[in-house]
Amino acid sequence: CGIIARIGHGDAAETLLSGLENLEYRGYDSAGIAVQNGSGVKVHKCSGEVDDLKSSLERQPHGNMGIGHTRWSTHGPPTDENAHPHTDTAGDVAVVHNGVIDNYDELRTQLQAQGHEFNSDTDTEVIPHLIDEYRQETDDTEQAVRKAVETLEGSYAIAAIVDGEERVYAARKGSPLVLGLDDEEWFLASDVPAFLDHTDQVIYLEDGDIVVLEPDNYRITNLEGEPLERSVDTVDWDP
Ligand code: GLU
Repeated sequence: CGIIARIGHGDAAETLLSGLENLEYRGYDSAGIAVQNGSGVKVHKCSGEVDDLKSSLERQPHGNMGIGHTRWSTHGPPTDENAHPHTDTAGDVAVVHNGVIDNYDELRTQLQAQGHEFNSDTDTEVIPHLIDEYRQETDDTEQAVRKAVETLEGSYAIAAIVDGEERVYAARKGSPLVLGLDDEEWFLASDVPAFLDHTDQVIYLEDGDIVVLEPDNYRITNLEGEPLERSVDTVDWDP
């Protein structure tokens, strides 16, 4: 139901957790974050509230980039396993997703036949496995994300991180996603309150947009990989 992502300098976990708290008004039944710090993607998630997630963390994981999610279950009950982020079999690709993947059943069957092991009942879990499958085929994660979203039917706002890559990948179709631009960090979220403490400079993404965030650079392209220009708006938010 709510997505947050952040890449910049210094640790991301605190920003991800407070971003999720600022999205609590949207309603949710589970919460989770994943951070990447060059020695693996670390996932922490549970059913319940962001507060439960915080108290389950002995200490906040280090890493300058990550993704977070509050879940409103559509496929699979609100259990720890079904909470996002979801990963591929090896745990190298982590994904958060808002929306519903209509063709998840057939994709799951195909991916299982290709050797992918699933850990949840969600429609979402096909996404990290698909990205992983296409990464192996293309050796290019951006290309793999593009191919994965072309394969998906349904609605989605997605953010993904990959072990060893200082990047956040994102895409949307039918679910909201906003890019937040601060001086030294970028955010993605389903709604601006998630990062409004940090910046009021935003780009409202459109269906079919693919976003790649790097620490000092961001780019938006269409499904064909052509660069897109999107105007930066200043949010006039009166809470
Ligand atoms: N369909 C996904 C699930 O049930 C995502 C739900 C959401 O948007 O929070 O896990």
